[in-house]
Amino acid sequence: MADNEFVLKGEGINKSYKSEQGEARLEVLKNVSLEIKKGSITAIVGSSGSGKSTLLHILGGLDKPDSGAVYWGDQLISSMNSDQLADFRNENIGFVFQFHHLLPEFTALENVSMPALISGMSIEDSSKRALQLLERFGVADRRNHRPTQLSGGEQQRVSMARALMNKPSIILADEPTGNLDDSNTSTILDMLFELRKQDDVTVLLITHEKAIAQRSDIVLEIKNGELSSL
Ligand code: ADP
Ligand code: MG
Repeated sequence: MADNEFVLKGEGINKSYKSEQGEARLEVLKNVSLEIKKGSITAIVGSSGSGKSTLLHILGGLDKPDSGAVYWGDQLISSMNSDQLADFRNENIGFVFQFHHLLPEFTALENVSMPALISGMSIEDSSKRALQLLERFGVADRRNHRPTQLSGGEQQRVSMARALMNKPSIILADEPTGNLDDSNTSTILDMLFELRKQDDVTVLLITHEKAIAQRSDIVLEIKNGELSSL
């Protein structure tokens, strides 16, 4: 892929939800288009309820637009069926959510191993890689803890390790520090910014933190369903 190529592109994305009274639909995204350049760090900001998560879910193939297209390179992912999408996400995308979304029944090591096990790697190899990632994020000593036995900062470190497990080309992070104190927030963000250097990944990050937005290459704002550059 050439340097100026786009990993991810949204074209004319519309998404609305039925409102409570069944009257006018709630138009969350109106004809949103964007291109995420390979190797960039893009931040999306916007007030609560402005449609940031909706957009991230659509771009990551977790949700479908009402109309419009999502491309990954030259693949049109908005037309894939759910099985194709699940495989595609597992192979290409690392998600980090605000509420970690770790599986409660499994240990940290098992949670991090999961994406690789799903894609067919052996238990031995996946455990080995998972442990290396836990070490990298400073939580290897918590490998046998379940999510409820981890602090918020530790849960997000484990989530970052899981997101990197299958060597994704892009990390989609939805307010990953939304529930953390200041010290954990800056650690997790430093780690996110390190990913580009160490792992050659592209990062798309939703955030409320002004300081983070300033460290990003590109800052986009969602307002009234429309996306603009800041
Ligand atoms: P943000 O992440 O910016 O806080 P969201 O993308 O989660 O905002 O939500 C945007 C708007 O869409 C909100 O008003 C929310 O209530 C509404 N919304 C989100 N998901 C649904 C849904 N499944 N059904 C109905 N309304 C929804
Ligand atoms: Mg949100």
